[in-house]
Amino acid sequence: MDHFLYRNGVLHAEDVNLTEIAAEVGTPAYVYSTATLERHFRLFDEALDGMPHLVCYAMKAASNQAILKTLAQLGAGMDVVSGGEYARAKAAGVPGERIVFAGVGKTREEIAQALAGGVRQFNVESEPELALISEVARGLGLTAPVTIRVNPDVDAKTHAKISTGKSENKFGVPISRARDVYAEAARLPGIEVVGIDVHIGSQLTELAPFEGAFTKVAELTEQLRADGHRIDRLDLGGGLGIPYQNTNEKPPLPFDYGALIRRTVGHLGCEIEIEPGRLIAGNAGILLARVIYVKEGEGRRFLILDAAMNDLIRPAMYDAWHDIVPVAEPEPGAERAVYDIVGPVCESGDTFAKSREMPELAAGDLVAFRSAGAYGAVMASEYNTRPLVPEVLVKGDHHAVIRERPTFDEMISRDTIPQWLRED
Ligand SMILES: *Cc1c(COP(=O)(O)O)cnc(C)c1O
Repeated sequence: MDHFLYRNGVLHAEDVNLTEIAAEVGTPAYVYSTATLERHFRLFDEALDGMPHLVCYAMKAASNQAILKTLAQLGAGMDVVSGGEYARAKAAGVPGERIVFAGVGKTREEIAQALAGGVRQFNVESEPELALISEVARGLGLTAPVTIRVNPDVDAKTHAKISTGKSENKFGVPISRARDVYAEAARLPGIEVVGIDVHIGSQLTELAPFEGAFTKVAELTEQLRADGHRIDRLDLGGGLGIPYQNTNEKPPLPFDYGALIRRTVGHLGCEIEIEPGRLIAGNAGILLARVIYVKEGEGRRFLILDAAMNDLIRPAMYDAWHDIVPVAEPEPGAERAVYDIVGPVCESGDTFAKSREMPELAAGDLVAFRSAGAYGAVMASEYNTRPLVPEVLVKGDHHAVIRERPTFDEMISRDTIPQWLRED
């Protein structure tokens, strides 16, 4: 469910008319709904009600400071995967004890940054990383709380590029080796084992892979406790999918996911952490764009938009589907047409949809890409020297630009000319 609905014939974000945002901010632009962000966070929080828990928003999904503050005010923790994200979480006012540091390649500098600023735990992905964390922590005279991310060898049944829990993926320590790695962690100075971590992939549309993974984590918890480790905390990752194609997708609900967690690991008395990203931000954002041209090709019609793959890369990268709807509500019985919907970038991959049937559109019309809030703006680039796409946050009848579109001068002035090319 989201808060992007037609009202008086125009698509609104909560109470704000999207044509007004387009007129003020220009297109392309991302627009997020506060009510949707809050609703989705609360669904997870409530799904774990009665168990000690922390919902750590996976901020790589959408990491604007205003989005982080919105969630942090509700009590969200943050799951960060880089020093930059750690700094963003701190800048948004999230205390270190609510920041989980994940990621397969944490550097010495990132580890030191998080230890100095405070961190709830590092989710450790390899033995060399464990050794480095021990060394850095000892050097600072600190103790690093850690979980080991185990790879349960479970097929998440999602797109190959967002599947992370099979043995061939680069993530985590094979679960078969977990006991050895925990023994090593217990021996190392500067390390305090606090629990176990698992994350099997993103955009999961069934609960069965989670069940497989969580069941293995429960067994491992008992084994590790028998080996003498303190396992007080289970970080079960993120990955719950969202409906991208409104009509025929029904991914599991947070409530059922919470019930599964209770059933598989609830008896262990651990504090539960989850790291949802996509389900919190995905349907909370749209990408607003304008039709530049309708071009008649040979046997096909192209809808050429002012948004491109540099603004929203998911279709090019993951073959992702986004519902694309006109901002002006079509009249009942309006003419329909079939389009290839593309951007202006010089790549054939700059295609958002092929043979998409939708209401007939003309140059100048506005469209909205639904479910674009997660892995949208954060993956944007300035390819083709297209300005980094701006972001707008709506709350009720208020809206604010939360990231400005840079000017060409700002973009160019980030480059510097070496001495030998200077004319003066
Ligand atoms: C990407 C990621 C998440 C979030 O996944 P979603 O599918 O967006 O919920 C959570 N944890 C880790 C470790 C991740 O890499």
